Amino acid sequence: MARNLEEMFRFRAEEQSLNLTLELDETIPEHVEVDGRKLNQVLINLLGNAIKFTREGSVTLELHKAPTSEDNRVAVRFAVSDTGSGIAPRDQRRIFEPFVRTDSTPAATEGTGLGLAISKDYVGLMGGELLVESEEGLGSTFSFTLSMRIPGAEELPEPDKQGVVMGLQTGQRKFRALVVEDHNERRTLLASLLETVGFEVHAIPDGQEALEVL
Ligand code: ADP
Repeated sequence: MARNLEEMFRFRAEEQSLNLTLELDETIPEHVEVDGRKLNQVLINLLGNAIKFTREGSVTLELHKAPTSEDNRVAVRFAVSDTGSGIAPRDQRRIFEPFVRTDSTPAATEGTGLGLAISKDYVGLMGGELLVESEEGLGSTFSFTLSMRIPGAEELPEPDKQGVVMGLQTGQRKFRALVVEDHNERRTLLASLLETVGFEVHAIPDGQEALEVL
């Protein structure tokens, strides 16, 4: 999951010339029992914010083992750090309330002010607490620790037999794809995904122009 997230955000980070790093403690067991959708959603929110509020420097996703005394369980500290704008002390509590965005967030910045409120609830439901440490002008770290059960080998589901798309089969005619999307990052992402697979891609931002090209 951590590696997928890194993959998912690498492109956005590169576009903003940010260094995205994954620090993954390899001794964390590969299989743990946790609500994967909630955990993924929380990390997506935190990484999205980190990239959104960082002009230069780096964003890091860290997964490290934390101490635990229980058998068959592992505690993991998840942390998303950035070298971005930081959050003033008076705002550090408020940002977890629904619809709160700090005064330093330009009104035009995409978002609803709901991400952190939902993330805090989700982390609570998974048995942890979402915390922030931040210094204005230097950056922020959002972190939480979850204690997760390690399932026995007999409990693991069948491995996923779905393959990975490598590319179109060679020796066919060229397939062309027209990508029409006004959001720059999304257009470039979709175009590059299709190009990697082997499509000849034409990507444009504008609907009227799309009709002409078509
Ligand atoms: P949204 O990102 O949709 O505005 P969130 O609930 O995710 O809403 O965040 C609330 C506010 O907290 C943001 O608008 C921003 O002011 C502040 N914030 C969140 N993450 C960061 C961060 N990594 N660096 C600086 N400010 C942040």
